[in-house]
Amino acid sequence: MSEFSEMLIEKAWARCGGNCECEREEHNHKGRCKNTLIKGHRGDRYSYFGWEAHSKSGYFLDDLEDVEILCWEPCYKMVTEK
Ligand SMILES: [Zn+2]
Repeated sequence: MSEFSEMLIEKAWARCGGNCECEREEHNHKGRCKNTLIKGHRGDRYSYFGWEAHSKSGYFLDDLEDVEILCWEPCYKMVTEK
């Protein structure tokens, strides 16, 4: 499985400000999701503050624009499990 570099994740994390970046209209949040995330909880699907770095293109490009920091619940799950 492809993965972003740690450096890119660091930049994306700094950009997101510790909040989910999802802006999908079909989710139940109005505008940006903004769920609170904890940095050390990346990949922890059982944490209320869990998150993952999602590739918008699906190709894990070495480009900050391709990275989207998403909360596990509901955004990352909804984006990846459809
Ligand atoms: Zn979210």
